[in-house]
Amino acid sequence: MSDCLFCKIVAGDIPSTKVYEDEDLFAFEDINPKAPVHVLVIPKKHIPTLNEVTPEDGPMVGRMIQVAAQIARERGTAEQGYRTVFNVNSGGGQLVYHIHLHLLGGKQLQSGLG
Ligand code: AMP
Ligand code: ZN
Repeated sequence: MSDCLFCKIVAGDIPSTKVYEDEDLFAFEDINPKAPVHVLVIPKKHIPTLNEVTPEDGPMVGRMIQVAAQIARERGTAEQGYRTVFNVNSGGGQLVYHIHLHLLGGKQLQSGLG
């Protein structure tokens, strides 16, 4: 989608610090990290929110989770622990309307969800 920030990052039109890339997925450092490890894992395909994910997208979304776990291992936070989050729509705190999985780790995160 031409007007989407994360599609532009995938296309290389907006710079990012790439962490991982394959045929379907892209991962990069969050520009405003909330933890020592804060990486965003996104599909290259434009999907606005989790509400638009179809059954056919299921394997790809599963891969997003698996890639986040792999990055957590590479960053040495897998054993200590980490958090993965999809924010959905404004009520869920979503600011960028291209699905992204937040990987947060490298510090003690508070239990519970606000
Ligand atoms: P959300 O609130 O779930 O939509 O999260 C959007 C995330 O994208 C926030 O954590 C932002 O810091 C991050 N973000 C926004 N613009 C950029 C950018 N150009 N490069 C990397 N991360 C970004
Ligand atoms: Zn997009």
